[in-house]
Amino acid sequence: MTAVIPASKSRQLRACLLCGLIQTSNDFRFNGCPNCEEILQLKDSADRVMSCTSTYFEGVIAGIDPENSWVQRWQRTSKYVRGMYAVRVRGRVPEDVETELENRGIKYRPRDLSSDQD
Ligand SMILES: [Zn+2]
Repeated sequence: MTAVIPASKSRQLRACLLCGLIQTSNDFRFNGCPNCEEILQLKDSADRVMSCTSTYFEGVIAGIDPENSWVQRWQRTSKYVRGMYAVRVRGRVPEDVETELENRGIKYRPRDLSSDQD
């Protein structure tokens, strides 16, 4: 299933760098990322939202991206929340998040799969 988000609306939207979930920046700030909050701790932190989510994403899908399954390794829940997910997200999580993942024995996989180089 695919979905198209109007450009006017997409400007307010951000994608989680870890799982690709798309929400508004307010959603991230007030609710955190329902999949990754345990690690990212976005709630009430505009700075965290800025550094752990990105407005540069593409390949929006409705539902669950099978590639996301690695995220489930740190999740207590066995399922992703339903929603819109970006296939590619430009950017990288902050180092402390990578370290946190490493501490849990999880190798971080950047979701930026594009061939663009910085
Ligand atoms: Zn997430």
